[in-house]
Amino acid sequence: MANEIPYKIYLEESEMPTAWYNFRADMKEKPAPLLNPATHQPASVDELSAVFCRELAEQELNNTDALIPIPEEIRSFYKMYRPSPLVRAYCLEQKLGTPAKIYYKFEGNNTSGSHKLNSAIAQAYYAKKQGLKGVTTETGAGQWGTALSMACSYFDLDCRVYMVKVSYEQKPFRREVMRTYGAGVIPSPSDTTEVGKKILAEHPGTGGSLGCAISEAVEYAVSHEGYRYVLGSVLNQVLLHQSVIGLETKTALDKYGIKADVIIGCAGGGSNLGGLIAPFVGEQLRGEAKYKFVAVEPASCPSLTRGTYAYDFCDTGKICPLAKMYTIGSNYIPAPNHAGGLRYHGMSSTLSALRDQGILDAVSYRQTEVFAAAEQFARIEGILPAPESSHAIKAAIDEAMRCKETGEEKTIVFGLTGTGYFDLYGYQKFNDGEMQDYIPTDEELAKSLESLPQM
Ligand SMILES: *Cc1c(COP(=O)(O)O)cnc(C)c1O
Repeated sequence: MANEIPYKIYLEESEMPTAWYNFRADMKEKPAPLLNPATHQPASVDELSAVFCRELAEQELNNTDALIPIPEEIRSFYKMYRPSPLVRAYCLEQKLGTPAKIYYKFEGNNTSGSHKLNSAIAQAYYAKKQGLKGVTTETGAGQWGTALSMACSYFDLDCRVYMVKVSYEQKPFRREVMRTYGAGVIPSPSDTTEVGKKILAEHPGTGGSLGCAISEAVEYAVSHEGYRYVLGSVLNQVLLHQSVIGLETKTALDKYGIKADVIIGCAGGGSNLGGLIAPFVGEQLRGEAKYKFVAVEPASCPSLTRGTYAYDFCDTGKICPLAKMYTIGSNYIPAPNHAGGLRYHGMSSTLSALRDQGILDAVSYRQTEVFAAAEQFARIEGILPAPESSHAIKAAIDEAMRCKETGEEKTIVFGLTGTGYFDLYGYQKFNDGEMQDYIPTDEELAKSLESLPQM
């Protein structure tokens, strides 16, 4: 039976989903609402529409519609790089000597190198449909900015990316990809916004921070006619768009009569994990099946494993709505980590609710053990994984090794979110034996949580 399953399960274009799946509709206990930071009242579509595109604001607050049709224009773009393959990791299984069956859904097959394009194209589409001139965003490591610049060039929208100045200087290659797709890339802090000028006056020569870049991107959007701000993770709308990953995975598994036991994803703000598990969570919420869902995060930024479930600011600038989530505090500056996409202080409020309801497990790993797993995977399966994705690889290998001890033939599915070609500085540090592990102390986390808003 097993050898009838190909190494790569490809779907036909016609098998791609025609609607995204919103599992909030099937949750009996809904995630806590976003709150206006000034009034602490639930944020309305009108309020959110001042910052975000209107239709995206509606998706953000939609807890009732399970299926949201994917517009044809977005499906045509998806067809350029989707359906993405579900790969059976036969070589890895053999090398590990595990009776477990391991599958990974590979999202690195596009120029942006990650799953972020799935939401970028949707957000650009709704901005265009609203008649906007352009969108603004921030980027740290650069994956989101790259995906958004590709999406904006497709729909002929202006794209302004505020890039943390240290990254702008240290990661010139990602910057050039964005500029090649026509985006304006501005090192932050900059003199293009009031908040940027203020920070520059107070801290001349600063390398900037993600919080500062967000504040600049939001300020530019709200103070320029025809612009809105867009975000590549954390929000419900982003999880919704990423459900295309899980829907394709489920179609591929169903095609071969495979039932997953464990589903694993790395978690920064939670969008790839929320998308991968979406249809499976739906089955579990409706009482049709049971799964073990695992979120994997870096030990240096442990929101789900060591954070508090509370309302917090989504941004260091404290301008975005408040979200109830597992958080280690919005002032927390994680130690430099080569998995830049996992350095967010909080977690999607929907995934946080699943965790609170006992549906989502979470584990954390140190970056040296993650890079060791990445290297092992690259050598056996051939793909050079992104450091973020490698957190899921490490958890899948550990699960498979537990199966080896117990003899269980579990089916493990994990999300391989992207490739690591722009992360070779991290690989270099690892190969040179110079990579540091940093784990915050309980005191540091307690201190950071003192900044939670008083509710
Ligand atoms: C951004 C990113 C992540 C983390 O973001 P989520 O919203 O948690 O999915 C993971 N992997 C890659 C390759 C990324 O670029």
